[in-house]
Amino acid sequence: MIECEFMDKLFEGYRQFRTDYYEKNQKLFETLAREGQAPKILLIGCSDSRVDPSYIFGAEPGDLFVLRNVANLVPPFAPDSHLHGTSAALEFAVRTLKVEHIIVMGHTRCGGVQALMDDVEGADGDFISGWMAVARGARERALVRSLSAGLSSEQTLRICEQEVVALSMGNLMSFPWIHEPVQYGRLQIHGLWFDVETGELFRLNPVTNVYEVVT
Ligand SMILES: [Zn+2]
Repeated sequence: MIECEFMDKLFEGYRQFRTDYYEKNQKLFETLAREGQAPKILLIGCSDSRVDPSYIFGAEPGDLFVLRNVANLVPPFAPDSHLHGTSAALEFAVRTLKVEHIIVMGHTRCGGVQALMDDVEGADGDFISGWMAVARGARERALVRSLSAGLSSEQTLRICEQEVVALSMGNLMSFPWIHEPVQYGRLQIHGLWFDVETGELFRLNPVTNVYEVVT
């Protein structure tokens, strides 16, 4: 087998996990294996390697049902024959696992949102610009806010990252089996945004529509 430092590092991490974390939590793993998972929270985050929800929230196995994709996007409800990986994961979390909270978490320096802001039609690749087109409305709102406040491109990117979270939260409500439990108070939707540089987490206040730092 070819030696590779990256894979070696990965397997070394696994060995540590096996002798340390797994040993300490063996009962939990065995219970989860026997009884199945029952997470109360679905977290929709970005695939970005810097924003792993498990370490940000110190979550244990079984705590979070995590859905990660490019730019933490939720597409609108579209029950057609296309391949809807994100919507399938949503459906499983809400209808089968019956989670009680859905969190959409954006982050700073998001490459997907940067691609959306750059808006290069069909540039580089087969899927990214089409996927990011889901968030066109967020881009428009960010640009309007940027123009009216005279913001820099870096500030506009941050605004757009936050608008993408709001857009995903709005699209969640287009799914009938999410809309109904939210209406009856059985399911809550939350918006978060994580600053990679400072490690600060911000929470969207649904009343004021402003992101407030979590202390
Ligand atoms: Zn991202």
